[in-house]
Amino acid sequence: MVTDKSEAFLNKFYRYLGRIKTRGHAFLFSSILASVCSLLSLAGTSFALNYVVSPILPVVQALAYFLPFALVLGSSFLLMRGFAMLEQRNKALSEVVERDHLTRLANRAAFYRRGKEMTIQANIHKSGLSLIMFDADYFKSINDTFGHIVGDLALQHLAEILRQVTRDNDLVARWGGEEFAILLRSSGALGARAFAERACETVAETPFYWEGNKINMTMSAGVTEWNHTEDKFESLVLRADKALYVAKSAGRDRVHVSFSYPDQVEGYEQDVQFDEAVA
Ligand code: GH3
Ligand code: MG
Ligand code: MG
Repeated sequence: MVTDKSEAFLNKFYRYLGRIKTRGHAFLFSSILASVCSLLSLAGTSFALNYVVSPILPVVQALAYFLPFALVLGSSFLLMRGFAMLEQRNKALSEVVERDHLTRLANRAAFYRRGKEMTIQANIHKSGLSLIMFDADYFKSINDTFGHIVGDLALQHLAEILRQVTRDNDLVARWGGEEFAILLRSSGALGARAFAERACETVAETPFYWEGNKINMTMSAGVTEWNHTEDKFESLVLRADKALYVAKSAGRDRVHVSFSYPDQVEGYEQDVQFDEAVA
């Protein structure tokens, strides 16, 4: 019962803390609390010294000095616990908001938020950054043949492969449907192309098994790189999407690159001609 009440009190207190939006507010809150405690202590001490004659006066005096410290210490402890709890809850909340429920990969919202952060980092460190858009080939036929539940399992299988072939600090997301997006750190278009080819090969060589059925899958990919001088995240996505479209139109199970540093890339002319021919 007592624990229920104290739990309810703590919850109320933490909810109140939730309204404290900035560290400035938090400091203000603690200093007001500390000032009130000190004033109470001073008032109590002077009252005791001037008006009370009692054998327990030394105890009251000691309490008057000690209590504010205890209160400030206690409230600071509660504040710290409250902030830790809030941070934990915020983390859990962003897990729910930013994770795709089927594949457990980052969802599109997370991809945009974290992807934009990665472009800022790439600009600061002048490091490479590439985007690959993957789309499973003829995925509808898996749903049509085996049903949507098996289709869902096949998507989880693809997500697992993509998770395994990427490094921890790359960003793997489910763009939507049977499409995935990967942002590769420290990688230009050529490196990303090699990576995408390896990933597509791994998918093709790793069939998905369901109730004795061997389900072969392939993926197509569009690759592009971050252009540090004049790029926008939306343009990066658009280029990768267009490159993916070219890969699809050219027959699927392949990778196409849209270079954003054309002057430096050998064979760019050919790619332009190839783009035009497919279009
Ligand atoms: P393409 O090679 O042109 O990409 O062919 P496709 O069949 O993969 O492409 P299409 O756009 O025609 O169909 C996409 C399919 O992906 C249809 C849709 O039902 C399926 N799909 C999208 N999201 C999910 C999902 O969450 N679960 C399942 N089971 N299927 C999904
Ligand atoms: Mg698609
Ligand atoms: Mg598809």
